[in-house]
Amino acid sequence: MKLPQFPVGGGCACGQFLYRLKAAPPLVYTCHCTDCQTLSTSAFTLSMTIPEESLEVVRGTLRTWARTTTESGVPQIAHECPTCGVRVFSKTARTPGRLTLRAGTLDDTRWLYPVVALWMKSAQPWFIPPAGMLTYERGDADWAAASAAWRAQFE
Ligand SMILES: [Zn+2]
Ligand SMILES: [Zn+2]
Repeated sequence: MKLPQFPVGGGCACGQFLYRLKAAPPLVYTCHCTDCQTLSTSAFTLSMTIPEESLEVVRGTLRTWARTTTESGVPQIAHECPTCGVRVFSKTARTPGRLTLRAGTLDDTRWLYPVVALWMKSAQPWFIPPAGMLTYERGDADWAAASAAWRAQFE
């Protein structure tokens, strides 16, 4: 598998907000918590938690709203397009200097092979993790092991 050449582009659905991802993320994961199911209106989210400086805004501004997650009790600040409503990323005081980018907002998503599945305890019963995927019942992943697994894909 090959990483793309960075920077790579992304944006919301209506195109009002565009960004560049300047560096490879430490890893990509799926989250199957019930909050992510509601927010994605689907079965899970595909995300990457990256240093804030990895994301460069090309144009547009996002509106924010705070959501207190069911499990952690720590507010997450969602950043979403005021026109189309796509949530591009979120931030939380738990991970200062980092943001969680919704990976589906990237222009090219073919290189996004998640290596970790979080919150398997609320995953749909039909979700069978691919071989080698690290799975966690809750959100407490071993991030060092997960990041190593992510990098190993591209060696
Ligand atoms: Zn938009
Ligand atoms: Zn989640």
